Formats: sequence, structure tokens, C-alpha cells
Amino acid sequence: MFLERYAKPVRGVRLILDEEIRELAPGVPIPESRMLSDLQIHELARQHRSLIVEGGAESIYLLYIPRRLPDGSGRGERGEAFVAESFAVIASDRVREGFLAIGGDEVERFVTQHELGHLLGLVSNEGHEHAGHCTNPTCLMYPEPDLRAALANWWRAFSGRLPTELDADCQRDLERLRESAQPRASATMSSGARKERGTSGPQAAKG
Ligand SMILES: [Zn+2]
Ligand SMILES: [Zn+2]
Repeated sequence: MFLERYAKPVRGVRLILDEEIRELAPGVPIPESRMLSDLQIHELARQHRSLIVEGGAESIYLLYIPRRLPDGSGRGERGEAFVAESFAVIASDRVREGFLAIGGDEVERFVTQHELGHLLGLVSNEGHEHAGHCTNPTCLMYPEPDLRAALANWWRAFSGRLPTELDADCQRDLERLRESAQPRASATMSSGARKERGTSGPQAAKG
């Protein structure tokens, strides 16, 4: 599992699945367009993120929505990590359209792991970073599944796969983040989290 492999938590990872959310709020249906705005996304997370963790554990919340209202930047339409809040949103309908010969499941796997990478504090190392993403197209933290990523991973793309791993640079970054971590991992997450330039304001990593 991605988190066990890269975050190496001392006491392991527990995955808790919530029930499917059927309404935006009691009595308020999901819009017919199936597109949710940032406000609606945050409101859903606020309403449904109910887990209380104790004893030094940390929680990450993943919210799968159908579609995200485009904000004109062309980014963040598949997913976005809200690093300060340790939560990420994945726009499943959009993601599950797939990409070239790569199926929806695989894109969803990629986007989920990619957003988790942001929540762990990637990518802020100027040595291999551009706008909060890794410049290596074989890396999970490359901005998004695009043609360049598919070509750089052609041997995987042939079997319908996208990058499955962090490259050596990003693995080293995580190693460093862990080493500098104080008992509370969240302090590391926010200090390691980059402040995105331009598109979305601080503490949000799009795409
Ligand atoms: Zn990388
Ligand atoms: Zn990203």
C-alpha cells in the first residue's frame, strides 16, 4: 500500500471507508451536472469528516466526488490536495474517463496516490520541482497523466499503466521529511508542503 511504503508510519495504516454520500446536505440533492464547487467540496468534507484520532495518530481524508467545477486554470480537475487540512478530493467521473489506452481504474489509482504524495509534503525540492510537481515524467508526482508521462512510461502505457512509483528524488525528499519529523507528523506535512504559486493560493496543490 502506498502510504505504508512511502510514509512508513510506525504503527501502520488503517483504511476506513465511509458510506456513500447521497446528498450535498440533508434534503439538498447532488446537482444534475454532478459538478461540485470548492465551497461545496469543503462543506461536504466538514460535514462528513467525523473520525477522531487519538494517541499521536494522524488522519488523512479522501473525498471522491463526481466532478469538480472547472476554475479556468485547467488544473485540479482530476484531483487536488488541501495540504493544510490533510484532505484531498478526487473527481471520479472525470478521472474514470481514462486517458489514451489507460483505463479509469488506473487513472483513479494514479490520482489518489499522487494526491497522497502532496499530503505527505511533495514536491518542494527545487532541484526537481516545477509548480509543486516533479519534473520527472516517470514519477507519480509528475503533474498529471499526459502524453509525455505516457511516452516516458511507454513500457507501462502498453499494458495500460501510468507511473506507479515515486522517483529517487521524491523518495529522498520523503526520507528527509521523515528524518526532520518531530513526533507529530502533521507538523512535517505542513512545513514540507509547498505554497503553490499562482493558481490556487496557499496550501493547495492542484492536479
Ligand atoms: Zn518525483
Ligand atoms: Zn499534483
